[in-house]
Amino acid sequence: MQKCLNCRKEFKYTQVLYSIVGQFKWQNVSCNYCGRNHKITLFSKFLISTSIIAFPIVMIQYIFPDPPLFAVALLWFAAWVVMLLAISPYFIKFK
Ligand SMILES: [Zn+2]
Repeated sequence: MQKCLNCRKEFKYTQVLYSIVGQFKWQNVSCNYCGRNHKITLFSKFLISTSIIAFPIVMIQYIFPDPPLFAVALLWFAAWVVMLLAISPYFIKFK
């Protein structure tokens, strides 16, 4: 998990997760200990956005060679987004 760049204390999982999904826009994370604000780096935003959109589009062609049922594809996509958001606090970076 990412640490505060100022005081080196580790951010909480929920704190980082909220910065990604909170109100469906990118939020700053402020440190609970020293109060410093951290922005998600452009690369992390790019990585998450690309993973959410591009990866399923590529994968769906391999997993479902025939045109999948819309409901199945939607479920699969929803599961992917939830999983990605759940693990994202472990790989996103702040500045
Ligand atoms: Zn701090």
